[in-house]
Amino acid sequence: MMTKQSTGPSVTMDDDLQESFFLEALVDTTDAIFTAVRPDGTLAWVNSAFSRITGYSFKEAVGRKVWEFRCPDEIEEGSRTFQVEVEGRRFESRWRTRDDRTIHLSWTTRSLRNADGSLHLRIGTALDVTAERETEKRAADLSLLLDRSMDAIILISNERRIIYCNNAACDLYRMTREEMLGQPNDMFIPDSESARLAEFGMEIRRDKKPVEIETWRRRGDGIQIPVHLRVTPLMDDDGLITALASVSYDISDRMALEERERQAAERAQLLADLVENLSDPVFHIRPDGTIGYVNSACERVYGHTREEMLNQPSSMLRPDDRVALMAKYIREVQQSSQAVVMETEALHKDGSRIPMELRSTTLRDEEGKVLGIGSVVRDMTLQKELEAELRRAADTDALTGLANRHRFSRVADAEVRRAIRYGHGLAVIACDIDHFKSVNDSYGHAGGDLALKVFARAASDCLRQPIDLLGRVGGEEFAVILPETDLSGAGRVAERIRSAVEKVQVKHDGRAFGFTVSLGVSQFRDGEASLEAAMKRADDALYRAKKSGRNRVEAAPG
Ligand code: GH3
Ligand code: MG
Ligand code: MG
Repeated sequence: MMTKQSTGPSVTMDDDLQESFFLEALVDTTDAIFTAVRPDGTLAWVNSAFSRITGYSFKEAVGRKVWEFRCPDEIEEGSRTFQVEVEGRRFESRWRTRDDRTIHLSWTTRSLRNADGSLHLRIGTALDVTAERETEKRAADLSLLLDRSMDAIILISNERRIIYCNNAACDLYRMTREEMLGQPNDMFIPDSESARLAEFGMEIRRDKKPVEIETWRRRGDGIQIPVHLRVTPLMDDDGLITALASVSYDISDRMALEERERQAAERAQLLADLVENLSDPVFHIRPDGTIGYVNSACERVYGHTREEMLNQPSSMLRPDDRVALMAKYIREVQQSSQAVVMETEALHKDGSRIPMELRSTTLRDEEGKVLGIGSVVRDMTLQKELEAELRRAADTDALTGLANRHRFSRVADAEVRRAIRYGHGLAVIACDIDHFKSVNDSYGHAGGDLALKVFARAASDCLRQPIDLLGRVGGEEFAVILPETDLSGAGRVAERIRSAVEKVQVKHDGRAFGFTVSLGVSQFRDGEASLEAAMKRADDALYRAKKSGRNRVEAAPG
């Protein structure tokens, strides 16, 4: 056709081609558009594919400028480039169909020239590539969309090579698109995970269903990161897998959070174990006063089983007479931001009371809501016994077991106050062992000590227990407080002591010896503030007893 046309420049194409039915039939069998355009751009001829594709009939098309069929935004460019289009070069144009659709046409053109070389006709052949372009555009749109995804998306071919990756994948795996495309997908898989992932791949290909796992991936920089992975098989119409789409995201943060939560839980468990096994009782009292928690030590100290205590009113753990005090204490705890300590008594199941120290704090949740009171109890039984022991030790003379000077003067003060308040008589006796130096000299210090003990026993036996108080106020000096006793009464007691001591024998080191004691008696006088003056008068009387030959009683003037 071209040869024929190019050798007949004077022929009008319209007429010639209309006659060439077989040629028309030929060009009509293809899906390609054929056009013949005059040098001024008007269409001289179109084939039926033209009409089919654009919707314009032969009549409607012929005579119009070829670029007028383009989309409005391309018309101007079309008219401009018509003259300069290089022969044989493929180009695309977007056309607007008669029913207002946009189609993409891919053109090649060829020029038919006159003998003088001027353009006679331009023959254009176009293929409708709308579907391809739309697919491409959709793919581009999809790619844009995928690039906007926060998840790393990778398409893996059946040859297990990367055929697509989005921006998030580049970010997550620290690689450029160029570094990833065409590479084997294995490059992300750490050795430790390869066996597991191979199995996983087989599972997807076998079941043709998406699978999700958490695994490790190796980034481009070699660092391993934990990821959540969802792999979906992409299938063609026949159900054959064409590629695998892998969607992954970094779960380092979540793993770190889970790790933190795990550690917190572990700590909480540790703490719970610790509290549970603490030797001191620990309990939680809810705002409504019921028991919310008790540790095992509570069972031991209170005698109740855990079941007997849980959900019961906490008042079951204290004696009735402590309930009011406890209510006051709890109010104090609630108002304090710190632990509040109180010494009180707990009630054992068997009814006995246990001295204890209670240390409590208000428990609040994270929002500050009060969850009740947490208490740690210290069983003070031992402590109390120890304290009593210490008090005794502090008040008692170790050798004789009598009150020491400290306790003697405390009792003296108390008795003076009583004597003043009730108007009772109050008398004192001062005692000093006679020639004690020579006892020590003859029987040794141990012999002397024994004599002091013997004296303590003998003198105590002469007193009203527990009214009178005998104390050791010096080395071998003793004194007696006699409440509600007058001078003559005290004199009689003193005489009893003197006489008792005179009779006792000290057996020491295979020997036996006796000793005597001198005593001075006096009484508390109205208007005196302490026993000191009376004691001084008793000492003076004692001094007189010594002077007058020892082993005797002297009384101070009333
Ligand atoms: P007097 O009849 O004048 O009281 O003569 P005395 O020897 O008892 O004289 P004085 O009271 O001055 O002496 C007390 C002596 O008692 C001195 C000291 O060695 C002795 N002594 C003091 N405390 C103890 C003690 O705890 N044990 C022994 N074995 N001797 C003591
Ligand atoms: Mg003395
Ligand atoms: Mg003496």
